[in-house]
Amino acid sequence: MVKSFKQFLIAGFMAFAPAYAEINDSEQNPNINQLEAQLIDLEKIRKVQQDEFGAKLEAMQPLMATMSADEQCLYQYLSIYKESYKGDYSQSINALKQTKALCETPEYKARVVQFLANLQVITGDFEPALKNLNTAIQITENTEDDYLRSLTNNVAAISYRLMNQDEIALKYADLLISGDFTEDDKCMGGFNKYRILMRQGKGAEYINEIEQAIERCEAVENHIASLFLQLDQVRYQFPQKDSHDSAQALQAVDTLESLEDEVIKTQFKNIKVYYHALMAHMYWIADMNKQAMSYGKLAIAENISIGESEQLILALNVLIQLSLEANTMQPAYLFLAKKNEIEKAVFERKLATQVAYYRVKHANLAQELQIEQLNQNNKLLVLENRLSVETAKKQQLMMLLIVSVLLLLGVWTYKIKKRHDYFKEVAEIDHLTKVFTRKAFEERMKQMMASCKEKQEPINLAIMDLDHFKNVNDQHGHLVGDWVLREVIITCENVADHDIMIARLGGEEFCIVSPGITHQKMIALMEKMRLAITELDCSPSGASFNITASFGISSNGFSGYKTSMLLTHADLALFEAKNKGRNQVVSYASLLKGNAVVRAS
Ligand code: GH3
Ligand code: MG
Ligand code: MG
Repeated sequence: MVKSFKQFLIAGFMAFAPAYAEINDSEQNPNINQLEAQLIDLEKIRKVQQDEFGAKLEAMQPLMATMSADEQCLYQYLSIYKESYKGDYSQSINALKQTKALCETPEYKARVVQFLANLQVITGDFEPALKNLNTAIQITENTEDDYLRSLTNNVAAISYRLMNQDEIALKYADLLISGDFTEDDKCMGGFNKYRILMRQGKGAEYINEIEQAIERCEAVENHIASLFLQLDQVRYQFPQKDSHDSAQALQAVDTLESLEDEVIKTQFKNIKVYYHALMAHMYWIADMNKQAMSYGKLAIAENISIGESEQLILALNVLIQLSLEANTMQPAYLFLAKKNEIEKAVFERKLATQVAYYRVKHANLAQELQIEQLNQNNKLLVLENRLSVETAKKQQLMMLLIVSVLLLLGVWTYKIKKRHDYFKEVAEIDHLTKVFTRKAFEERMKQMMASCKEKQEPINLAIMDLDHFKNVNDQHGHLVGDWVLREVIITCENVADHDIMIARLGGEEFCIVSPGITHQKMIALMEKMRLAITELDCSPSGASFNITASFGISSNGFSGYKTSMLLTHADLALFEAKNKGRNQVVSYASLLKGNAVVRAS
């Protein structure tokens, strides 16, 4: 049986038989294995069938080594729960801390931490208690596990009440009362809720609800909860000393006496102390000092622990006053010292709970702020990211634009160059015969002349003119004339055995330049060309006729390195060739000597 108040605190979750024992989770959830299911079932019978619970748990011990982490977590949690009956809470707390690390399933972890929180509240480790409670609450908020929800709400309601966080405690108490929980849970909800409200002086507003809460706890045989509520009723309903209302005080004594049997039955120290303190107080108000003194002494005879020690102050007040009235200073002093000691402890406890509460709250707030800050940062990052993506896109577009423009420019330049080349070619190359134009000829002659002059190399120039070409056009048509012009040039190029440059000076008149060869070789080459032209087969043109050409040659030897002079002298030689009957090569040299050097063969 529960002996101490500490154990009553755990009893909030264990002594008042919940009806969960009937539920079999292994049938409800196919995801958990058999052993896990057995452990979950054991959890539900731990309060009502303590012996069976203990035996079954012990039977499982050999399986420890083969258990999964989650199974070990549950097994340890239940074992520690069982061990905690013995009252070594610090050992239980340490064991729970180690067990917490084993739990993989959040719901199992929540079971461990809510129990841890429970024990830490009892031992006065408020800050870690609140942290663990928060963890359990967070997990519970996201779960379908109704049993865990009941556990957490219970621990939250009782822990916050003991830490004087009335508002939050009331919230969890209300959850237990109005939620889909068992009657035991609802009893515990009422127990916490109305104890708070009575302590706050609001008992009168809730007379009916308090009565119902007491009945509800009686119905589930939670006598301890019921008794606390009834003792509170007496304490807060009945008069204080300064009212001097002896009649009401005696009525309170009557009410208290009606509870005496129950009080004794519970063997619950705190209840007894509370009961005796209240009796002392009421007798004192009724001026029945002897009874007051003996109940007061009964109250302080029990060595009670934290939590309900405030009730002891009631008894000590009576004892102090009575000692003073009887002029017995020694006991008065001792009672006062004891009262101070308890008041100091109560004060320190309240302070510690407040400090812990605000520290955890602020830590949570800070964490929330930090999370908010991180969210903001994240938003900024997202924006920055988007911005950079957009910038990158813009840059890409820009690059694309630049590349396009460059490409266009390139294509354009290329086209211009091609056009330029084309026009240059058109300007430099005769479109019909594909030899240099006169303009291009003159330009190239400048370079060639300079180079030959510099190297003192010979340069020979010939002008070739087709004989009676007008007749070809006249007799066979202009197109045949064109054909002849092309074929004559191809023929000349084919027979050339030296580097030559051919240019069309106009009409059917061409200039042939050959640097680096002697005048004689030039004459021989022109002769070769003349002969080849006479042998040209003109039938592919579609007509039958023969072609001849006349050649006039000049050389640097007579004309110097001057294009105009070379042309003039070659032209004179050509004129001579025409004069002498055409189809022949004449060198300007022969004109100087008065006769043609080379005759038509
Ligand atoms: P000669 O022996 O005295 O040189 O007599 P010729 O008929 O060759 O001389 P002329 O200068 O009187 O005639 C040149 C002719 O060449 C005139 C023109 O019809 C023709 N001719 C000039 N250029 C072209 C051309 O590009 N194509 C064609 N088919 N004929 C052309
Ligand atoms: Mg001509
Ligand atoms: Mg001619």
